[in-house]
Amino acid sequence: MGEEVKVFENKLTNFFGRQSLCVNSGTAALQLSLQSIGVGPGDEVLIQSLTYVASFQAISATGAKPIACEVNPLNLTIDLNDAQKKITSKTKAIMPMHYSGNPGNLESIYNFAKKNKLRVIEDAAHAFGSSYKDRLIGSFGDIVCFSFDGIKNITSGEGGCIVSSDNKVIERIKDSRLLGVEKDSDKRYSGQRSWEFDVKRQGWRYHMSNIMAAIGIEQLKKFDIFAKKRQSFAKQYDQLFSGNKKIKILKRDYNNVVPHIYVVIIDNLKKRDLLRKKMIEKEIQTGVHYAPNHLLTFFKDNSFNDIVNAKIMYDNILTLPLHPDLTKKDITYVAKNLNIFLNDIEH
Ligand SMILES: *Cc1c(COP(=O)(O)O)cnc(C)c1O
Repeated sequence: MGEEVKVFENKLTNFFGRQSLCVNSGTAALQLSLQSIGVGPGDEVLIQSLTYVASFQAISATGAKPIACEVNPLNLTIDLNDAQKKITSKTKAIMPMHYSGNPGNLESIYNFAKKNKLRVIEDAAHAFGSSYKDRLIGSFGDIVCFSFDGIKNITSGEGGCIVSSDNKVIERIKDSRLLGVEKDSDKRYSGQRSWEFDVKRQGWRYHMSNIMAAIGIEQLKKFDIFAKKRQSFAKQYDQLFSGNKKIKILKRDYNNVVPHIYVVIIDNLKKRDLLRKKMIEKEIQTGVHYAPNHLLTFFKDNSFNDIVNAKIMYDNILTLPLHPDLTKKDITYVAKNLNIFLNDIEH
């Protein structure tokens, strides 16, 4: 970690209009954010079940318990009615995940948090560049975390960042990402390091390396091009599926949302494996984002048995190719094949 990291952080700070810190992954960003507000053993954090396992692992890494919640079937973000039922005296924070780049109803999440005296850590790994009510995600809110892993809206190879206006959070994370060594960040930025130091808290080796930062800096320059491509491809998919009654699209305004993934919902999709096999035969890779985390052995808990929508939605979702190296022709090809296969097979 050295000067390039400082340069990348300055550029991100400019982009979001407030303090940004880089770490070596999005998962690390979430974990350190939780720890910076004192979340630890005995605490609970509300999180939608349908998310990447990184969100759950980041919570359990602190010693706290991830409390799985339902998703809203319309946009696959956290269901606040269910979250409300799951509040206990141990609940410290809520971690909304901006599924596929769409922040859902962020205002109601912040109202919910305020009412219940919870901190908010936005898992914005999918939402780099997205806006909510004309405000850039990350430019406001309690603590907002991004990922720069290889497939995200921008990448640094691996990496992540934390954006917040809370100086205590920023100062804590500056130390905790460098093994808890106090005030080492500023030395590293100028090619030095601390030799005499104190450590008062558990820390981790989660800093971003100069090489990752150098990649991130170049990616950020290209972000406008990436964003426009992702948005126009998603709009094109929407259009190509508009005549297909079997396919439900996630409705959102792609002038504000920069989509990380493009997901369709196919009611009663019983033969997803067959469908995916047929797509692969046409050289089209598809994905499934995500299996509900409350069903995983490590996170299972009987109190999550009432979760139904997350499971139903999981059964019916399919992720189609979406990245800046695609062309309009590719999108047409993918949509055409999906439309044909859905007519052919009794899904
Ligand atoms: C990618 C991702 C993360 C974690 O980011 P990494 O950089 O891979 O550690 C967290 N949450 C969600 C929803 C993600 O998609």
